[in-house]
Amino acid sequence: MTEAMHQVLVVEDEPAIRNVLTVLLEAEGYRVIEADTALRAEIESRSHKPDLLLIDLGLPDGDGIAIIRRVRAWSPMPIVVLSARTQEEQKVAALDAGADDYVTKPFSARELLARVRAALRRNVRGSEQTGALNLGPLQIDLEKREARGAAGEIHLTPLEYRVIECLARHLGAIITQAQLIREVWGPERLGDSRGLRVCIMNLRGKIEPDPRKPRYLVTEAGLGYRLRSDDSPGG
Ligand code: CA
Repeated sequence: MTEAMHQVLVVEDEPAIRNVLTVLLEAEGYRVIEADTALRAEIESRSHKPDLLLIDLGLPDGDGIAIIRRVRAWSPMPIVVLSARTQEEQKVAALDAGADDYVTKPFSARELLARVRAALRRNVRGSEQTGALNLGPLQIDLEKREARGAAGEIHLTPLEYRVIECLARHLGAIITQAQLIREVWGPERLGDSRGLRVCIMNLRGKIEPDPRKPRYLVTEAGLGYRLRSDDSPGG
């Protein structure tokens, strides 16, 4: 399927912004469906099953986060959030609810389209996941649990493999601290991020060319982490 066939559901209550989004996306060849309320968003997402959901968090009749949670219950479709700069906490809540990425308003057309393309590509790649991860000169086989760099084999602990696996499943997307802790350490450890911080630090020491300036295991300030490979977008 070509990118031109992709269908995007745009959920935004401000007509001027919705119009800009539609014009931008249609100019790139996407088919666009519009919704201006939480209720319409639910109806359109179920009837059209779009390839991507682009959603504003503040809607007149409800919360965008609640919609994300409900969509996630039945669909892995990529979800990109539109949020205002003043909505930091909501941004984390949206990612925790299952959104893949966010764009901050006011957004640039270039950034928005890059995020949309990245989220759609990740969806394709996710379904073809082979278990091998290339981070520059480093190769990590997630199935065999083997890591190899330019200087030979690299030893990762079972915990480090679990953190890398979790990040690799969402390659290029943001994973919040809470998501990582829940998946790797378990829900009872939520609120205790020390183990995670130590693990990230150790991993960077092993996989980053310069651990002080991470290139692959990137911190998203106030939100969480993003794993980037050289051929993955989302930077
Ligand atoms: Ca709004």
